[in-house]
Amino acid sequence: MLDQALTRLEEAARHLQLDGDVLEKLKYPRETTKTRLMIRMDDGSRKSFMAWRCRYDDTRGPTKGGIRFHPEATMDEVETLAFWMTFKCAVMNLPYGGGKGAVQVDPHTLSKAELERLSRAYMQAFSHIIGPDRDIPAPDVYTNSMIMGWMADEYASIVGRVSPAVITGKPIALGGSLGRDDATARGGFYLLRHLETELGLSRGATVAIQGFGNAGTHMARLLAGAGYRIVAVSDSRGGIHAPSGLDVERLIAAKRNGSLKTLAGAGIRTIEGEAITAVECDVLVPAALENLIHEGNAAAVRARVIVELANGPITPEADTILERKGVAVLPDILANAGGVTVSYFEWVQNRQGLYWTAEEIHSRLRAVMENEGRSVWDLARQRRIGVRTAAYVHALSRLAEAIEAHGTQQFFTS
Ligand code: NAD
Repeated sequence: MLDQALTRLEEAARHLQLDGDVLEKLKYPRETTKTRLMIRMDDGSRKSFMAWRCRYDDTRGPTKGGIRFHPEATMDEVETLAFWMTFKCAVMNLPYGGGKGAVQVDPHTLSKAELERLSRAYMQAFSHIIGPDRDIPAPDVYTNSMIMGWMADEYASIVGRVSPAVITGKPIALGGSLGRDDATARGGFYLLRHLETELGLSRGATVAIQGFGNAGTHMARLLAGAGYRIVAVSDSRGGIHAPSGLDVERLIAAKRNGSLKTLAGAGIRTIEGEAITAVECDVLVPAALENLIHEGNAAAVRARVIVELANGPITPEADTILERKGVAVLPDILANAGGVTVSYFEWVQNRQGLYWTAEEIHSRLRAVMENEGRSVWDLARQRRIGVRTAAYVHALSRLAEAIEAHGTQQFFTS
């Protein structure tokens, strides 16, 4: 995966006059730590889980990135996600580098007490790397504010002081930010709304969403509220398709009660696997895992616009096919950057001890998404390049400037 991701960097580098040092610095993760976490299960037995934390690059500030709990997590995936975080923070001009972490576990098989022990064990294992000025985790797939709360609490007992800025996406009661829960979707939503005219979208445009967790659910709500029609939704257990439209609150209730597919019936048919990528719609929103759209299914995509709320849902080969078909892709490092942007707001609020209203968070998020989104869009048009390449060029020029500003004799290692 990392090799694939690096092709984006190489492509962007072709559009800039770069010093060779810049690519050398960005081609490899700075450090990846791996360990086995051993926890006590409720039945008294012990079980171990592979875990990683990668600090990919800290040129522009402390590394920032989520922690994923997933049975198929790998070190390669963690490093790739950390690489994307490096570019995402640079696209948004946040004072952060990129990091990421994961535990190879299916959290659905653990009791709440086991999940808490695992989360605390993660912080114990990596607390020497993590810190408010060094590496700041957040939620990702199958982790949430409750887990961030446990981790923040564990960190406080390790260092002997309350330190809320060590982790973002915390519960509000522990210094979390208003507006963090729907920030990823809201950022993508603001971006899409801002570019509606350029993308040729109008009220009533149809939407298919793959993944119905944090990002997917909030996106469905926001788009439906703005007059878009949600025609298909899927999660890990399959999905449903209704050309006349689906009611978002009923979808949320069905998911809570076990499966989206319980809504199937008159006018609503079930769909399996990747079939959602071929559904007739104006906007396709991948909001689950990587590599959803690949060489084998890209030609069948019928959407005109893709908003990547997931990280890395389109492979480079599929990108080429989609570009030839004229599909506009709002890329992950821009479209899903609302999450890390509000995480940054949370970190700033924790450090200043002064908290903002939801309205302030939303208007600041909207301003950043629109400004950076406009810069990337205009760059793509001026240089006649894809929006993804433009986002990488935009980020890479900021990273290159920072690498240069550090000087050539840099020995400092944080
Ligand atoms: P989540 O755990 O809340 O939800 C993940 C969803 O994906 C679940 O509904 C799950 O059922 C579904 N899913 C898993 N495998 C699937 C499959 N094979 N087919 C269809 N659906 C499947 O996670 P999330 O926080 O919503 O993250 C989703 C994506 O957004 C990830 O790529 C993540 O890296 C990215 N992202 C999340 C944030 C954030 O703040 N949460 C920020 C930036 C990017």
